[in-house]
Amino acid sequence: MDVQAAITRVLDEVERQRDFPVELARELMRVPTVNPKFEEAPGINREPEAQDIVAARLAELDMTTTRAEVFAGRPNVAGSWAGSAERSLAINGHIDVVPVGDQAAWSVDPFGAEIHDGRLYGRGGYDMKAGIAAGIAAAKALRDCGIELDGRFEIHSVVDEEAGGFGTKDLLRDPDRVPSAVIVGEPTEGQIMPCQPGLEWVRVTIRGRNAHAGWRYNDIYPQRDTPDRTRPGVNAAELAARFLTAVGQLERDWGCRKPAHPLLPPGITTINPGVVQVGSGIGANGLPVTMTNPAITPDVAVLDFDLKYSPTENSAQVRAEFEEFVRSWAAQDSWLRETPPIVQWELGSLHFPAFDTPLDFPLVDSIRRQRTALGRSAEITGFVAVCDGAFYRGAGATPLIHGPLGADAHGPDEWVSVESIVDTAKVYAAAAIEYCGLRAG
Ligand SMILES: [Zn+2]
Repeated sequence: MDVQAAITRVLDEVERQRDFPVELARELMRVPTVNPKFEEAPGINREPEAQDIVAARLAELDMTTTRAEVFAGRPNVAGSWAGSAERSLAINGHIDVVPVGDQAAWSVDPFGAEIHDGRLYGRGGYDMKAGIAAGIAAAKALRDCGIELDGRFEIHSVVDEEAGGFGTKDLLRDPDRVPSAVIVGEPTEGQIMPCQPGLEWVRVTIRGRNAHAGWRYNDIYPQRDTPDRTRPGVNAAELAARFLTAVGQLERDWGCRKPAHPLLPPGITTINPGVVQVGSGIGANGLPVTMTNPAITPDVAVLDFDLKYSPTENSAQVRAEFEEFVRSWAAQDSWLRETPPIVQWELGSLHFPAFDTPLDFPLVDSIRRQRTALGRSAEITGFVAVCDGAFYRGAGATPLIHGPLGADAHGPDEWVSVESIVDTAKVYAAAAIEYCGLRAG
């Protein structure tokens, strides 16, 4: 059997079993797997049960399966068929979902997996249990029509993507698990996404000097020195405000000055001030101790930023650039020159390397051709958010993102197109044949 004949056969097989990925997605969606880092409540944090379903399916396909806890009671599940490392391919998906949010805003049961007019509704179907189901369906179709791949083929079903990708990071600590290529099945509207920005969470701590607010006039209008007046305070809240203004200017400067990536919108290099905490005294956790007394001139401001950089840059370069900016900003002020702000990277251990898979990487063209052959659009574009593909790149694999159509990920009435789940399974199966090759004999 040649590659083309194998593809024809596997596409027929997925078509014959077209209900399989849809029913599997529904089965997974009916088990709520809300990431407990966001919301913990009885009956909603059931990642292990959903992973049991995945593990059972993978075992039925004669995959060697592993189940390893990343956090207590939160296991990753991976399955693989043996094969060459050079042509190895993994399909990655995360089993955790974000909370339902405002239940009243939903017109369907968020965990009911109802289908209306070709749309499968529910939390975490689109993002991204449909992608996992499509990956397993691709494997099942390959197995059921007797196609054996030359390269190792794996399914990675991970926990905790929504809170920073700690499931995938943990899985890839085993170097034998790292494939040469990975398709992350996040929803992409059927588009092929070979690149995504890098993301850093960075904390900047600015110190001032405590004083009594009653003497603030002396900070603003310095008085003749008398023994009954305390030293002027330095207000960390006001320093933070100046710093935020400067960061906003830097962000716009980056937007104008840094070359845009051809597959990403201009100005993707954003620096979002997400959390600002100001108060007095610094605690062992690095945060202000007193945040309830405005009569104190505060001496601590802690600012947390979500900083994105283009796939054309690298993390070390961007970190150095931001640190240099902080140094120059501080150098303009006599107090800050003596008391420089402290910059800490990997806040919450979060760090997503960027990736920029070349457009001539075979899998890009393979998926494009399969989509076209199915009569579907096959646009190549960039992922503007970040996903687990970052960690595969960091581990040495070549990632790209391709998954089903739908809408309202993280919102009410999230849905995924039933037809596109089947399409995605077809594309995965055909791409696996082309990328991994057929086993001789
Ligand atoms: Zn997702």
